[in-house]
Amino acid sequence: MSSHVCDVLVIGGGIIGLTAAWRALEAGASVVVLDPSPGDGATHAAGGMLAPVMEAGFGEQGQARLGTASLALWPEFAESLERAAGLPPGAVGLETAGTLALAYDRDDLVELRRLLALHHEWDLGSAEISPEDARRRVPGVGPRVAGAAWVPGDHRADPRAAQAALASVVAARGTLVPRAAVSLNWADGAVVGALDDSGTAYAAGAVVLAAGHASGSLFAGAPTRPVPGTTLRLDANVDRAPAVVVRGMVQGRPVYVVPRPVRPDGRRELVVGATSDEREDDHLTRAGDVFALLRDVRALLPELDDAVLLETVTRSRPGSPDNAPLVGWAADGLFLATGHHRNGILLTPLTAAAVDQALGAAPEGPEAAAASEVATRFADPRRFAAADSGFADARSTTRGGTA
Ligand SMILES: Cc1cc2nc3c(=O)[nH]c(=O)nc-3n(C[C@H](O)[C@H](O)[C@H](O)COP(=O)(O)OP(=O)(O)OC[C@H]3O[C@@H](n4cnc5c(N)ncnc54)[C@H](O)[C@@H]3O)c2cc1C
Repeated sequence: MSSHVCDVLVIGGGIIGLTAAWRALEAGASVVVLDPSPGDGATHAAGGMLAPVMEAGFGEQGQARLGTASLALWPEFAESLERAAGLPPGAVGLETAGTLALAYDRDDLVELRRLLALHHEWDLGSAEISPEDARRRVPGVGPRVAGAAWVPGDHRADPRAAQAALASVVAARGTLVPRAAVSLNWADGAVVGALDDSGTAYAAGAVVLAAGHASGSLFAGAPTRPVPGTTLRLDANVDRAPAVVVRGMVQGRPVYVVPRPVRPDGRRELVVGATSDEREDDHLTRAGDVFALLRDVRALLPELDDAVLLETVTRSRPGSPDNAPLVGWAADGLFLATGHHRNGILLTPLTAAAVDQALGAAPEGPEAAAASEVATRFADPRRFAAADSGFADARSTTRGGTA
């Protein structure tokens, strides 16, 4: 059995694990990342909505606080990642152009108004607008839409571009090993490393567990589960494609469209999402899911009939029992960065700030300090350790997440 020694061992090379690895490298640590297929988890499917407002459901004020704190960090996060990767400004696709929310029929409008009332209570800044105003903002909005809202606080980024930028930074300065961790190594109640599936042992000063929905298979204190979802990629002429995120309800079913930047050929990619299931992770796309997404998106934006269907992809969100992430120390030597569920792209900069703090680096600026405080309050993984924590199994409590 061979062995490696490093300061920080990161298990999982999705957007969260690579962000943790990048922050550890910035702090001067030697870093190894284990992942048999980095970037091929939930990050590969994600739409990239940065949506603390529309994703804030009833009873989820903690998640709204986490999301708002993380969104404030996105501009600085994107800029410093692009700089570190030697990419031009804008390469990770951050766009702060707001979001249009649509309601297809009268019942969907009742739901939208209930949500707007909640946003008003929490001071999140969204407001109802008329369907005509919606069409002025996004000309392709269909004639049958019953109502709309403008959500100035929800934005977007490109998860695949961010993942690629992180991978290039980590590959240049750390070590990426294409292997799966099979167990954590413990000594005297502390995590001191891990073993991979080739039998190689890694000894580390700290282990960051960021294996997405699979994290729970390595550590019982990370009660993650797969929440599979499908997204589609369309390619549309810019005249027929929305320039802002459009999301809506169509007879009770959520659907969204996230635009990527316009290309020189006058077309842009659109991500249409997303289904949400409670089943095992198999990466298989169901025909009915593709049908339902296309049916619902055409009800809101009929002009997309002309778009080219490029890709269907199904991956699993890392769900947690209360739908909030697990970010923080869970045992001596073991830092959890998982359970980000339907908001992992939004919550990436907040996770970065928490890792900075865990490694002893002062979070940069008041917003980062505030974010890591919010993470301590609402994302502490030890909340599941208490026998009387009372967290219900989310299988019975989640109502189809949208992102
Ligand atoms: C359909 C869909 C749409 C989404 N839309 C949005 C959105 O619009 N906005 C948003 O904020 N979030 C969205 N999300 C959620 C977001 O994608 C996730 O929360 C985020 O990508 C989680 O990142 P991660 O790095 O923790 O997990 P992942 O990206 O799943 O990465 C985990 C990695 O761990 C690796 N791994 C697993 N087991 C092991 C092991 N034993 N050893 C080593 N490595 C291992 C995997 O290979 C994988 O690369 C969406 C998710 C889905 C599925």
